[in-house]
Amino acid sequence: MDRAFVTPTPLDGHALTQLRSHGLRCTPGRIAILQVLLTCAPGHVTVDEIHQRVIALGWPTDNTAVRRTLHVFTSAGLTHTLAVPGPVAYGLANPPHHHVLCSTCGAPTDVPAAALTATLTTVQAATGYQLTRSGLTLPGRCPGCQESPPAARH
Ligand SMILES: [Zn+2]
Ligand SMILES: [Zn+2]
Repeated sequence: MDRAFVTPTPLDGHALTQLRSHGLRCTPGRIAILQVLLTCAPGHVTVDEIHQRVIALGWPTDNTAVRRTLHVFTSAGLTHTLAVPGPVAYGLANPPHHHVLCSTCGAPTDVPAAALTATLTTVQAATGYQLTRSGLTLPGRCPGCQESPPAARH
């Protein structure tokens, strides 16, 4: 691989502030990863995509470091996962939201967390669990896929 020197893109002050407000140490690698997530928001991206984009910003890192950082972010409530088939995708947990995911075409849509508050409160009362504030993924069929006839059966 060509190891041409890439001047690192200046890092985002907004990312720095977000890390600090979640009590996280600010390393260039962490800031770069968060910056990628902010750029992709409200989308959700896989570890591989984040890794490629961080490198494109001029901050060399490896896949394991990206994965580890995303675990730290998720534990701190900064990010959450979107349970897509295949490699899991990460997104910013704010604004708090859940997802609906089309099981036919794979398109995800965010749902404001408030839409499920009543349901989750009921579940918490019934189970005694303290539920995560965001990041649920509900399967279904998107409006587009409901309109088109199901694929021919073999
Ligand atoms: Zn999400
Ligand atoms: Zn669909």
